[in-house]
Amino acid sequence: KLSKRLEVVASYIPKDAIFADIGSDHAYLPCYSIINGIAKGAIAGEITEGPFLSAQRQVSKSNLDEVISVRKGDGLSVIKEDEKVDCITIAGMGGSLITKILEDGKLKLDYVKRLVLQPNIHAINIREWLINNEWELINEQIIEEDNKIYEILVAEKGNAHRPYHKHSLQSGLLFGPFLLEENNKVFQKKWTNERTHLQTILAQLQTAGYTFENSEKYREVSGQLNLIEEVIQA
Ligand code: SAM
Repeated sequence: KLSKRLEVVASYIPKDAIFADIGSDHAYLPCYSIINGIAKGAIAGEITEGPFLSAQRQVSKSNLDEVISVRKGDGLSVIKEDEKVDCITIAGMGGSLITKILEDGKLKLDYVKRLVLQPNIHAINIREWLINNEWELINEQIIEEDNKIYEILVAEKGNAHRPYHKHSLQSGLLFGPFLLEENNKVFQKKWTNERTHLQTILAQLQTAGYTFENSEKYREVSGQLNLIEEVIQA
């Protein structure tokens, strides 16, 4: 059975799409999407030998070799030039690695209509990249599974600034405009945890003699804490 996290990612793959799952590990997401009639074909990309072999094994075992192409390589380099990929999924990595993969693979995004991205941390990096590259965030989800909180970001080419009109850009980028608007229990839990974490960091900075006046890091952390205080209820 697929994790709830990857099920949510799969739910945003367009019907009958050809998609590339980058950092696919066991290729669970491509296999699930084909078996459940969501996608028509997939590329499972992996940079590391072990996970690449697991992906190959899983695809063969599921008799999906004709519809899932397992390829070894860095990021979007596994997509061939002029290969028509409708959608790209990148899940289970940090936001900065996901951003790097998109940035390095920019030239491969020509035919791509949708990105489904699931950062484990630092979703803010992805939102910044999307806005700077004219990808419009069209939906976001925040979910909890096995005591971990995950965000799923969905983007299409369009008006990158559109989702940010309701709140300050700073808050939108940090919290996610859709997540901020929905403001559900998991969201509250995530930012309550994050507040505690940042308070600890601030206390450590203070102990080390840093202040608002002499430290950029101090200003950054206290700035984020102020934004968080505004969205946390009680
Ligand atoms: N996507 C799966 C999921 O969400 O369950 C697997 C996540 S796993 C934690 C991250 C995978 O990304 C690893 O198997 C790693 O080898 C792969 N990876 C890391 N950097 C990569 C890159 N630049 N290109 C392709 N794969 C990469």
